[in-house]
Amino acid sequence: MMQHNLLINNEWRAAASSKTMDVVNPATEEVIARVALADRVDLDGAVKAARAALDGPWGQLSARERGRLVRKLGERLLERVDEIARLETLHNGKPIMESRNIEIPAAAECFEYYGGWSDKVMGETIPVKGNYLTYTLREPVGVVAAIVPWNFPLLLASWKVAPALACGNTVILKPASQTPLTALALGEVALEIGLPPGVLNVLTGSGSQLGQSIVEHPGIDKIAFTGDTSTGKGIMRGAADTLKKITLELGGKSPNIVLADADIDAAIRGATMGIFYGKGEVCAAGSRLLVETSIKDEFIDKLAARAKKMTAGDPMDPKTRFGALSSRKQMDTVLRYIESGKQEGATLVAGGARTDIGTGKGYFVQPTVFADVRPDMTIAREEIFGPVLAAIEFADIDEAITRANDTQYGLAAGIWTRDIKKAHYVARKLQAGTVWINTYNVYDTAAPFGGYKQSGFGREMSAHALEHYTQIKSVWVDMNF
Ligand code: NAD
Repeated sequence: MMQHNLLINNEWRAAASSKTMDVVNPATEEVIARVALADRVDLDGAVKAARAALDGPWGQLSARERGRLVRKLGERLLERVDEIARLETLHNGKPIMESRNIEIPAAAECFEYYGGWSDKVMGETIPVKGNYLTYTLREPVGVVAAIVPWNFPLLLASWKVAPALACGNTVILKPASQTPLTALALGEVALEIGLPPGVLNVLTGSGSQLGQSIVEHPGIDKIAFTGDTSTGKGIMRGAADTLKKITLELGGKSPNIVLADADIDAAIRGATMGIFYGKGEVCAAGSRLLVETSIKDEFIDKLAARAKKMTAGDPMDPKTRFGALSSRKQMDTVLRYIESGKQEGATLVAGGARTDIGTGKGYFVQPTVFADVRPDMTIAREEIFGPVLAAIEFADIDEAITRANDTQYGLAAGIWTRDIKKAHYVARKLQAGTVWINTYNVYDTAAPFGGYKQSGFGREMSAHALEHYTQIKSVWVDMNF
């Protein structure tokens, strides 16, 4: 069995308490690794190392040299893609196709992209009144803690670690307790490419304890968090005492709107992929399908047929497109929501139960579709974070917009139509950080991603993320002789 320590100051250290926690493969229910359980004492060590690195060799490195190291992180990740993708699938249950072909390469690309930014983050000279030379410096924020969830463990870490390092910060990375293995692999990669000590520290531990200690720690300057909306609210409250800077990428209940004039087959594919990619454990999942009444019956029939054809498979098999939910807890949550959908009177047209892949083991749930969902039902309002689609009908475009926006969340949205005017009209009206037109679930490191409303604030990826990892200093020089 794999055993892992904490990465602090470029050394692998056991937790000061010597405690460990088990990592489970959700497709087999077997314990596959044991990792150190860090607490406040280990965090103190990591913060000390991260602070020293800022004042030491890392802080003195030229921006170009720093960028080269960040790019090397990406290159090395890509060299090890097979092995790291395997780890991602082992601890998360996602199909190896998703880890190997999409997510680990995307994580590597994120480092490549931000490595390119390092020497292009510039200040400005400002024409002020009076005889002064006034300019700005864009400096690192300091010690950044990245707290990430279990659904895209390495990719969401890279969205934070890459811009943070590119801008000259140092990082303490805390992966979710269920999925620590690829964050630790990133730590190995950092050692391999010669990142100086203390620049990237990886602490595995529990959210409620280690996570809480991070929030309270006076030596941490910024928290970049992705996770549940309620956890995000707690982090915001907790960060107030030390006035840490925070960015929050939180939950979603994203609407995927199909107008009657859409390319129906394309919309079916988009709706299916929008909810079943990543087993629906995707913050931007198109979990509310809004369908125009005139095409509803045909659309739901086709969608249900497609969902029924998707069967769960062994996540390690390259042909599998639908894997295991990430944990027993998550499976139980999803099954509870399915029950509530049935009880509140929605019509179950596909799935609706736990399943397995012939082994009798694993946290597999069938791809599930509910039709005739009313907007006030629990499955239409709460983030399920699993393979459960709630289909709601609407009569016209304005009703579609009202229903789409009738949520506390605002992460993403989709719109399917052949009418270009309607597409852009709806895109402007939707309260969401990302709108996809005739597509769904596409991302690129160069395009910003983040939430409106209670889906959080701050943007990840793109040049916009750089703002969250730098602070601006105005410098005034008296030019009077
Ligand atoms: P979570 O909030 O339970 O955990 C996220 C991380 O926070 C984990 O590392 C966890 O250990 C840590 N944590 C837990 N309690 C903490 C506390 N009190 N203080 C500090 N840290 C704490 O979320 P999850 O269940 O791992 O992830 C699922 C959620 O993430 C969903 O709501 C999903 O929508 C959201 N998500 C959002 C995005 C986005 O970009 N907006 C992307 C992926 C996932």
